[in-house]
Amino acid sequence: MCQVEEEYHGPLLREELPSVSRQCVKCKEASAAVVIRAGDAYCRGCFKEYFIHKFRAMLGKNRLIFPGEKVLLAVSGGPSSCSMLSQVQEGLSQNAHKKLRFLPGIVYIDEGGAVGQSVEHRRRTVEELRAVFRATGFPFLMVPLEQVLDLPSSVVLSAPGAPEQEAGAYKAAVDHFLLSNGSSGVTAGQQQETPPPEVQEAHTHSLQRLLGSARTLTAREELLNILRQHLLVHTARSAGYSKLMLGDSCTRLAVKLLSSISLGRGAQLAHDTGFSDSRYGDTILVRPMRDYSAKEIAYYNRMFSVPSVFTAGLDTKTADKSSIQHLTESFVIKLQADFPSTVSTIYRTSEKLQSCKGSASAEGDRCLLCVCALDTAAENASAFSATLISEQLSQTKSPGESRQAPEWTAPASQCCSIVGGELCGNRGGGCCSSAKASESPPLRSLLCYSCQLTIKDMSSEEVLPQYILSEAERRLRRSQLREEIRDFLLEDEADEG
Ligand SMILES: [Zn+2]
Ligand SMILES: [Zn+2]
Repeated sequence: MCQVEEEYHGPLLREELPSVSRQCVKCKEASAAVVIRAGDAYCRGCFKEYFIHKFRAMLGKNRLIFPGEKVLLAVSGGPSSCSMLSQVQEGLSQNAHKKLRFLPGIVYIDEGGAVGQSVEHRRRTVEELRAVFRATGFPFLMVPLEQVLDLPSSVVLSAPGAPEQEAGAYKAAVDHFLLSNGSSGVTAGQQQETPPPEVQEAHTHSLQRLLGSARTLTAREELLNILRQHLLVHTARSAGYSKLMLGDSCTRLAVKLLSSISLGRGAQLAHDTGFSDSRYGDTILVRPMRDYSAKEIAYYNRMFSVPSVFTAGLDTKTADKSSIQHLTESFVIKLQADFPSTVSTIYRTSEKLQSCKGSASAEGDRCLLCVCALDTAAENASAFSATLISEQLSQTKSPGESRQAPEWTAPASQCCSIVGGELCGNRGGGCCSSAKASESPPLRSLLCYSCQLTIKDMSSEEVLPQYILSEAERRLRRSQLREEIRDFLLEDEADEG
């Protein structure tokens, strides 16, 4: 009691106490400038060292990025991806042995059209970011999201990747690099000043119609995530980058992990939240910021003046309950404030997840939208089939009426005809041409459970970009053809022998 009074009133004690308790835990000399977790107080210098070390350690531990490899950094303008950019810059400025040895480039996707920003507003944001990117000296690309409408179908195919590297390959490559030109340093490539492509108003309208066709914000956000990822992968592929670096922080991944489970993406969690994601085959997605909390990043960016540019998202200025993703985010952020260690516990879970390798060999085994292995061929006792049965039961009409299975569980072979290249969903009953495309089953049969839910929330499938529709048509034609000639095919007995 007396002590408390003294602490509160006594000027001497009040001055002494903070300096004692806030000494840097690392060097034990300088006074602390930042407290990351309770008990972990760092001085400015030690915090910087700790932050930089963590980035290098994450890349070093995983040994995925080889010397001289072209790596595309996806920078949204937000604090986390901008911090990632500054870490790469930092890494390239180190001396030869500590230096990062890959060749970075930057891509920014301008999503202003998706959130209804004016042309002028978008131009300003692009200009602001251009100044940030120009200062790095790295080559950069500014891509409007509207370009997703012109993608080729190949983007939703998993291209064959580089053969698995042997265990010693990474070390050998590093040694070779150090011997050959490590000391002279690698230049980051020429900075290109290509003006961003003109965005046609009609394209912006199509994009808005596409996102607007989603009846819920949850589905709209999923759709936007899918489109953004397709555009990023395509940009990386066509510019010759074999790795795509994403700026997901630990906090972001904890949100993603929880919301993915709620969205029925349990089977894809390892891909969605892991350090590396090889679903696209030749272009590997990596998440080097996954060990940093949003708080650490905010401190670092502020202390070391890392610039970032605010860009509005779909859920900006919406209520907490507007979407599953937004609700999960506010839950995790509140959790972080009161129980900081639980968030990293959620995120650590994602480190332990593994995807089943080799389960999707053929293209038909992959989801048309998220390009993950299809999780819909599950066994009878799975949660997925339970969901189907319950949906079937809830749609069953009273005994007087004719019983109808949910249209999308029926085998496509029962379809009466083909309408506009797509199988009609009416299975012989009623007029085919009047059947709405959104109700026809086939496209959904090409999707994983979670993407089926997203598409189900859309008022029309016809607004999907052409590269998705034509790839769907191609896959459906193929599976129909396979069905037709099935009786003439020789059984593949290789597995049985
Ligand atoms: Zn220190
Ligand atoms: Zn999917």
